[in-house]
Amino acid sequence: MTRRILLALGLAASLTSVASAADKLKVLIVDGQNNHNWVVTTPVLVNALETSGAFTVTVSTTPDKSAPKEAWNDWHPKFSDYATVVSNYNGADWPEAVQKDFEAYVQNGGGFVSVHAADNSFGKWEAYNKMIGVGGWGGRNEKSGPWIYVKDGQLFRDTSAGSGGSHGAQHEFMVEVRNPNHPITKGLPAKWMHAKDELYSNLRGPAEGIEVLSTSLSDKTNQNEPNMMVLNYGKGRVFHTTLGHADYSMLERGFYKIIQRGTEWAATGDCKATADVPSDFPTDKVVPVALEGYPKQNTPAPKPAAASVTK
Ligand code: ZN
Repeated sequence: MTRRILLALGLAASLTSVASAADKLKVLIVDGQNNHNWVVTTPVLVNALETSGAFTVTVSTTPDKSAPKEAWNDWHPKFSDYATVVSNYNGADWPEAVQKDFEAYVQNGGGFVSVHAADNSFGKWEAYNKMIGVGGWGGRNEKSGPWIYVKDGQLFRDTSAGSGGSHGAQHEFMVEVRNPNHPITKGLPAKWMHAKDELYSNLRGPAEGIEVLSTSLSDKTNQNEPNMMVLNYGKGRVFHTTLGHADYSMLERGFYKIIQRGTEWAATGDCKATADVPSDFPTDKVVPVALEGYPKQNTPAPKPAAASVTK
């Protein structure tokens, strides 16, 4: 069989496995404020989700940090239109009405995905901290809840005094799967090398019903710090990853796959549309390869300093 025929067969197979637009899960990414370059990383998240074929993605951008208070009157996403909300946001408190809507959305079964510094946000918002389980910075300390990490294969809750959130210098590091039977981790290598990123440590929070799916050994704490977690808030499912400091941290197959699966799991409780494990998924011996061909030409860059919803 010639290579061309093989390629044609591969294309046909991939076309049949791609959901039609009506079947795709609707995802809302929220951004607009962050101490990270969200203007660059949101299109990567859009690309990671859309290239799976399982999602249609909308981006909702909050007012800028310097925007007048009235600007927030125009920002009120209809969360309930979406199967999952993905946060790439770390900034000012949302208006109370938006907070209440978001709480009700997850409580009633909406999915939520917290990416990297999204767990720095809203240190005083009680429901949000229950959703993410643990977080860092934002005034968090032992009063926010225990520092959690994995020790001798068990989840350890350290209630001693201290601030929440730390990391050392960025570097490539090994991700170790702690539950290989969860839909998000199923079939992935037990250990795989992740691209240059910040390795979050000392995260604190209520951590009610939290399950740690994967950890990395911190150079700051010498403990196995969680970097993929799942939990429920009411009927809603939450996927929380601490990975994704920058575009170069996200642009590799490992991150793409966990974002795809975490988003699908938050929406449906399973990862049927994102179950495949790509051949270029990193392993404990094969370092991650930077993905090319991003961003897609038709992916609009979100505009800073404006309250807007763009497709
Ligand atoms: Zn960061």
